[in-house]
Amino acid sequence: MITLGLDIGSTAAKGILISEDRHYSDILPTGWSPRQTGADLTTRLTTQAEIKVSDIQRTVATGYGRIAVQTADKNITEIRCHARGVAYLNPEVRTIIDIGGQDSKVISINEQGQVVDFAMNDKCAAGTGRFLQVTSNAMGMDVSELGSAEDPSELVTITSMCTVFAESEIIGLLAQNIPPGGIIAGLHQSVSRRVSSMVHRIGIKQTVAFTGGVAQNQGVQRALLEELGSSIWVPAECQFTGALGAALLAQEL
Ligand code: ADP
Repeated sequence: MITLGLDIGSTAAKGILISEDRHYSDILPTGWSPRQTGADLTTRLTTQAEIKVSDIQRTVATGYGRIAVQTADKNITEIRCHARGVAYLNPEVRTIIDIGGQDSKVISINEQGQVVDFAMNDKCAAGTGRFLQVTSNAMGMDVSELGSAEDPSELVTITSMCTVFAESEIIGLLAQNIPPGGIIAGLHQSVSRRVSSMVHRIGIKQTVAFTGGVAQNQGVQRALLEELGSSIWVPAECQFTGALGAALLAQEL
């Protein structure tokens, strides 16, 4: 069966096409039209797999822009899709921490990969990828550079909870010649503290998976590990677990 999972996120649109047990993946910035981005992703994935769009038998859309994907047979919540994708990759996982572009969530799953409980922050940019994007701009860096640029031995605690105030705080710290590596370590600590409080609300059960675009940042991985005092498993394609789950759930429709 040929199925497609589209995760149209606030920042990035991810797609996974499953054809004859092979997985094809692609990612595009979501941009201003989630519908067009979903169509573009579909075309790119079918080109990769050397099939026609009409060969796709089932499509499931997830993510914040899922309603806009008119070609989808079904829309399924990100929580369910992430749970399905992660459980497929590692059946030992019981807690998922997902940090995306504009939200962060903690999902508790059982032995069958079903969602038992979850907590979500989609009200405040602090504790999400948005916080790191805004603050990396203030540092004159791309968000992908933050992980390798941090220096936890010089950590400077960022006191501002609000993203806008944190940006001003960073500008003030840089003006005082505080080393950037310590400030960046402080940003990673700030994100992980926010998310850890959600983890404690839900309760932590091993194995803990860390997914979403922000999971690529080894500085946030480090800070979460310190904050939770627990090891964390990061899948190789951590940004694609929602799309993978959507493609797998499409097989079950
Ligand atoms: P969404 O589904 O909401 O679009 P994603 O899970 O795709 O979110 O994650 C997007 C976020 O991931 C961005 O806001 C950015 O902070 C972060 N990100 C993207 N690429 C990288 C990278 N190479 N290194 C570190 N962080 C990244």
